[in-house]
Amino acid sequence: MSENCLFCKIIKGEIPCDKLYEDEDVFAFRDIAPQAPMHVLIIPKEHLRGPEAVGEANERVMGKLMRVANEIAGKEGQTDYRLVCNNGAVAGQTVFHLHMHIIGGRPLGWPPG
Ligand code: 5GP
Ligand code: ZN
Repeated sequence: MSENCLFCKIIKGEIPCDKLYEDEDVFAFRDIAPQAPMHVLIIPKEHLRGPEAVGEANERVMGKLMRVANEIAGKEGQTDYRLVCNNGAVAGQTVFHLHMHIIGGRPLGWPPG
């Protein structure tokens, strides 16, 4: 846990969220500013600032993020979706607790802006 991290506060329940999933390793909730009909964030409970902070010790949980993301998309009725994990401000990261966006429910363009 990191003291001044927004997503650590959401995990602890200090900031409310629309929670979809929680287990001992990961936590998922709806994005507050959805960019598509389905826009969910899935995060490791351990505070990691982003993909750049992932080490061998985190590999199991990173795989779980992807597996659970697919389960959540399925429960949301989506077989087609996009997973996005921004690293660094230039790439669009605004919250520095690693998170994967699960986006779907409409056709998605490529490449991203
Ligand atoms: P990033 O831009 O860092 O990849 O994504 C951060 C995401 O967190 C954004 O899509 C933003 O809408 C979402 N977000 C920021 N603050 C909150 C919040 O307090 N609650 C929820 N549910 N999502 C948030
Ligand atoms: Zn955090």
